[in-house]
Amino acid sequence: MKVKVVGSGSMWNEHNSASYLIDDNIIVDMPNGMCKYLFRQNKDPRDYKNILITHFHGDHFFDIPFYMLLKSKSENKNINIYCSRNGKRKIVNLIKLAFPNSFKDVLKETNSAFCFDDKFNIEDYKIERYLVNHGRMKPAYGYVIEKDNMKIGFTGDTGLCNNVYYISSICDYLFCDCMFINGTQKHMGINHLEELSQKYPNCKFIVSHMENDTRELLKEKRIGNVIVPEDGDIINII
Ligand SMILES: [Zn+2]
Ligand SMILES: [Zn+2]
Repeated sequence: MKVKVVGSGSMWNEHNSASYLIDDNIIVDMPNGMCKYLFRQNKDPRDYKNILITHFHGDHFFDIPFYMLLKSKSENKNINIYCSRNGKRKIVNLIKLAFPNSFKDVLKETNSAFCFDDKFNIEDYKIERYLVNHGRMKPAYGYVIEKDNMKIGFTGDTGLCNNVYYISSICDYLFCDCMFINGTQKHMGINHLEELSQKYPNCKFIVSHMENDTRELLKEKRIGNVIVPEDGDIINII
C-alpha cells in the first residue's frame, strides 16, 4: 500500500487538516478545503469514490458538499461513504446549507451509497473500525485497513484509549493524532507517542493533526519509530 498524507496539520495553521489518500483509491476524511488540497497535490477528487469518515467535526467532513457537487458534474458519479449511522443526515444537511437551490440535484445526480458497518471490504482491502475517545464527539472511529498481509491504522481524533493501544498492537503503520505537546482527553500528544512507540516498537507511527509547536518539538526529539510527515508526503507501506 501507498499512503499520501494529504494533510498533517491542526485547524489552526498553514498546514492542511488531517486527511489521507490510500493507493489512489480510498480517502480518509474530507476536511474543509480537501478538494483544493488534492488539486494542489496534482490529484483530482473526481477520480475517487471511496471515502472513510472518522467523525463529524468540520475539519473532517466539511468539503463533502464541494466533492459531491463536483462528482455530480463528472462522468464517474459513484460515491461510497463509510461513516457512523447518524452521518448521512449530517452530510445531507450540510449539502443543503452549502447549495440550498441545487442540493436535491446534487443528491439525485450522484450515485451515493452509505455504509454504516463495523467491518467491510473495499475490493481487496479488509477494513474494520474501532471506537476511540474524542470527548463529547460520539461516535468517533479509528480504522484498520488490511491488504497484502500489511495492516495500517488511522486513529482519527482521539485521546489515548484502549482501542488506540489495541490498534497500535496489531498495525504495521499507524497514522495518528498528535495534536499537542501534552495530550488531553480528546487529542493525543508527544507524551503519548513516546509511550506508544516504546511499547510497540514494531509499529511505525506517522503523526498528524499537529499544532506547529508540536511539529517542531517532534522533529527535534527524533523518536525512533515516529515519522513526522509534511503535507503531500507519500508513505510506502512495506
Ligand atoms: Zn475532532
Ligand atoms: Zn480534527
